[in-house]
Amino acid sequence: MNEKISRRGLFGVSAGAAAVLAGAQAATAAPRNTGFSLRWWGNNSWEIRLGEKRVLIDPWLTRFKTGTYSPQGADPETPLEVNKKLIDRYVDSGELRADHILVTHGHYDHLTDVPYLAKKTGATVLGTETHLSLMKALGAPEDQLAVASGGEYLAFEGYTIRVLRSLHSAVGPRAQVPFPGSRTLSCRDVPRRIKDLVEGGTLSYQVSGGGLSVLNFGGSNYVESELAGLRPDVLLMPAGGAKVVGYASRLLTTLGNPAYVLPTHWDDFDYPLDEPGRDYGGLTPLREAVAQASPSSRFVVVDHLQTFTP
Ligand SMILES: [Zn+2]
Repeated sequence: MNEKISRRGLFGVSAGAAAVLAGAQAATAAPRNTGFSLRWWGNNSWEIRLGEKRVLIDPWLTRFKTGTYSPQGADPETPLEVNKKLIDRYVDSGELRADHILVTHGHYDHLTDVPYLAKKTGATVLGTETHLSLMKALGAPEDQLAVASGGEYLAFEGYTIRVLRSLHSAVGPRAQVPFPGSRTLSCRDVPRRIKDLVEGGTLSYQVSGGGLSVLNFGGSNYVESELAGLRPDVLLMPAGGAKVVGYASRLLTTLGNPAYVLPTHWDDFDYPLDEPGRDYGGLTPLREAVAQASPSSRFVVVDHLQTFTP
């Protein structure tokens, strides 16, 4: 399969079909896909389709300008914005639905759209106490919020969700978490600027259903011991990790060299979702690190709004 998949390729021959063509042995070894696919909505926004069910991770469609990947970095005073018209277009047309929304951490490029999307879709939202506190203050319906701390393994109709303790990307010379901090559920301060959306702990999620499983990280770091024994078919792996010892090799070895590695969080989100993703500079190093650490894994770049079927 090409590293960059065309729309036609994605909707035409799936990787599962290719395995069948390769021989009966490959076909029996491959997990049977019963309605599992992934659609990328930019940054770390993924829609997991499991038959009729939909699970969203960090859905962020608005992508207001922050200068995050400019030499100056993000301006902390950037006001938060939600493009309701854009979100309405996708939700009202039925293109975007959600039974669950999973939040990895509190930052603006992950959490900002979730309160409005929760209201629009009626989805249950998982996150830490800080994430829920931020979303409640931004107008998320309180009775749709469910707190998680990592370690939960939950069953729903048609899929399971495994919540894992995780770590945020380590950035800059001090290997620092940008906009660190936490807040309690009772805090009512309304976040108005990107600096108000504090990290609040980081979770990762494995979602399984339709015979397959996908593991997502919202930042380029992880807690290795949390991942012992996990064998996801698809790993959604963030670009970055330069400050993390053996970022790719430790992760891929611990996970038993997943069949598919899809890069995530690699596009410059100062540019809109309806244009092809623009690499901020992390995609090539990630591709090389994965090729070296796990040559048997297929590195598949899925572009904005494209769908991948394992
Ligand atoms: Zn972040």
